[in-house]
Amino acid sequence: MAVRKPIIPGTRFGRLVVQGAAPPLKSSPSRTRLQVYVLCDCGTSKMVLPENLKSGNTNSCGCLAKAGRTISPQGYLREGRKLEHIEVVERALGKRLPKGAQVHHWNENRTDNRNSNLVICPNRAYHILLHYRTKAYDACGHADWVKCTFCKRYDDPKNLHKNEQIRSGVRYWHVPLCAAAIAMQARQRKKKTSRKLDAIGFQ
Ligand SMILES: [Zn+2]
Ligand SMILES: [Zn+2]
Ligand SMILES: [Zn+2]
Repeated sequence: MAVRKPIIPGTRFGRLVVQGAAPPLKSSPSRTRLQVYVLCDCGTSKMVLPENLKSGNTNSCGCLAKAGRTISPQGYLREGRKLEHIEVVERALGKRLPKGAQVHHWNENRTDNRNSNLVICPNRAYHILLHYRTKAYDACGHADWVKCTFCKRYDDPKNLHKNEQIRSGVRYWHVPLCAAAIAMQARQRKKKTSRKLDAIGFQ
């Protein structure tokens, strides 16, 4: 699976986290290739070619294969066809995961399947909400704040206008500042269209 993630310090690829640039690899007398240092969750550091991270070919220092595991296209640890995080949760529950339920990784590392890192979500909507709240918390320190669609700043929902009439879900914006800017944009768009209609002979 090809992954579209930047190769910068801190980016995770499976069990590997990029640390920084490494000495280039001289693959032939005339050709050198970029390499990066990565740190595996098991503590081993190594050098890899960025393309192997992007292609998903390299996702551990080799410790995964040794343990008989692979990583699924979605980034989850797998043993044969069984997903490890589902197994861990079902072992803790003592029964199968209820239908529709999903498992969330608290620190958003999908290969960290410690009990304390797994949260059972009753459904997909709850799972999406958890991600939304985590993103808000990381961005501004308040899990319950929401983002203004116009200025992209997080704020207390009390200071924002909530519009549920929009097809692609709920949108929020600041009153009165961003609301005024949004209204002005809409007026300008309308003017532009009517000028265009005039130009081609419509009233
Ligand atoms: Zn390792
Ligand atoms: Zn999740
Ligand atoms: Zn705003």
